[in-house]
Amino acid sequence: MQTDLSIARSLSWRYLIALMLVATMATAAWISLRLVISEQKSTAAVVNISGRQRMLSQRTALYSSLLLHTPKERRPQVRSELAHAADLMRRSHLGLLHGDAEMGLPPTMSPAVHALYFDGPAALDSQVNRYLEAVRTLLQAKDADLTPDNTALQYIITIAPNQLVQSLDQMVNLYQAEGEAAISRLQTAETVVWLLTLLLLVLEAAFIFEPFARQIRRVIDKWQAATDELRDYQGHLEELVRQRTLELQKKGEALTESEEKFRLISTSAKDAILIIDQAEAIVYWNPAAAAMFGYPAEQALGKHMHDLLAPPRYREDIERGFAEFCRTGTGPLIGLTSEVTALRSGGEEFPIELSISTLPLDGRLHALGIIRDITERVRMENELRELANTDFLTGLPNRRHFLAHMEEQLARLQRLVTQHAAVLILDLDHFKRINDTYGHATGDAMLSHVAALMRDDLRKIDMAGRVGGEEFAFILPGTNLAGAQIFAERLRGRVEETPLAQDGRTIPITVSIGVAAMDTADACTNAALVRADEALYRAKNSGRNRVEVAGG
Ligand code: GH3
Ligand code: MG
Ligand code: MG
Repeated sequence: MQTDLSIARSLSWRYLIALMLVATMATAAWISLRLVISEQKSTAAVVNISGRQRMLSQRTALYSSLLLHTPKERRPQVRSELAHAADLMRRSHLGLLHGDAEMGLPPTMSPAVHALYFDGPAALDSQVNRYLEAVRTLLQAKDADLTPDNTALQYIITIAPNQLVQSLDQMVNLYQAEGEAAISRLQTAETVVWLLTLLLLVLEAAFIFEPFARQIRRVIDKWQAATDELRDYQGHLEELVRQRTLELQKKGEALTESEEKFRLISTSAKDAILIIDQAEAIVYWNPAAAAMFGYPAEQALGKHMHDLLAPPRYREDIERGFAEFCRTGTGPLIGLTSEVTALRSGGEEFPIELSISTLPLDGRLHALGIIRDITERVRMENELRELANTDFLTGLPNRRHFLAHMEEQLARLQRLVTQHAAVLILDLDHFKRINDTYGHATGDAMLSHVAALMRDDLRKIDMAGRVGGEEFAFILPGTNLAGAQIFAERLRGRVEETPLAQDGRTIPITVSIGVAAMDTADACTNAALVRADEALYRAKNSGRNRVEVAGG
């Protein structure tokens, strides 16, 4: 902006100077043209008039001769013509000497012309004056004096043609030569003016365009600098691109390698691997998932995570969890590892361990689900739990399990879930003798035999456990003392009536049973067991093979 203004200002005064120069040159050209024209005019006039002088000198000589030879009556006319020619000759002579604006004659003369007119014995001025004087004398002479030997006439027709015409020719030649020289000089001057004008125009152009040239130079310099900078920058960029390409290539290789690893891991993994997007839709499904759930990838992709779970409660939890994950990017679902029941494509339910974590993928949040089929583990756990709770010999709940169950029943009674509950303790009579008589193995067989009899009589809600070596206990929820007594009596009778059959022989056995009611006031299960044990003690003391009721 600043540069534009300074250029405009500089140009304004340069244009002004240039205009003034153009005006001066135009004026000089106009003046030189005027000079040429006036010089040409005056040269033409001088040459013309001097030539006319020569012609007039001859015409006056002719009229003078005619005057002598013409008849008298025509002489006045000849005299008049002669007078007119002599007058014209005088006027022209004066014009040539002193200048005459009417005839276009200049008031000055060159030194050569001046010398021709005035210097020497044959000066043209005196010759002309003498000649005109002779003509005037002839015109004043009377007719009688007009004889061939008239002095004036003699002079006019004999001397003048030789001397005067020669001098006049000389004058004409001189004027012509001078005129040509003047015109040539003027032409030279004009050429010089033209060359000067051209030179000035060139200078003017340079003068006017100098700021432009300066600006253009500046622009070119800037452009050059910018080009250099651009070239440097381009070099730098090319280097960057080269480095970036190398980096990308390395990253690409690393990516391919990690993709290959992921593919290997995910295809060879035994666990199902799922990637779930924020709409809870499955976007990745590995072969283990396909084998586990029975859906090939093309069927599984797009399904919702909760479609894979069995009880509606799990589905709702998962749906809610994903909704929160989508909203907040986290939530209780993330980082969770839980055991839930899943659903195979055929509708079969199976236990799974599900763990969910966040997975940023392609710049968006996803969830990574890893699912392990825990059917086998759960089965083994159940088995172990069963083993831990079961008496090996009889297959009945062991003491620990039985007591735990009693705790539950006491709690139910205290919460008034059940109105009554009865506890029984059963002990084999003189069991030591069986061992002693038949051996320990038979003792074991006897224990199993009695346990089987007991189990036959149990309702689903009842439980019998082996709580000691040859001691069994029962808990009968919803059964009062009387009911329990009847149950005990029936069981006692069945044992008595059903001896153990072994190796073709029968070994009889009897049992004593103590019965007690479980009380809401009991602080623990032990209280009822102690009461039942007391009743059992009484049964033993009363002769065995009996049922005794606590508090009865
Ligand atoms: P009582 O009528 O007074 O009960 O007489 P008893 O012989 O049954 O006496 P007690 O109850 O004191 O005897 C328990 C015996 O049970 C002792 C032990 O040898 C035997 N016993 C305990 N556990 C087992 C077992 O698992 N297998 C076998 N074969 N015998 C056992
Ligand atoms: Mg005993
Ligand atoms: Mg016993």
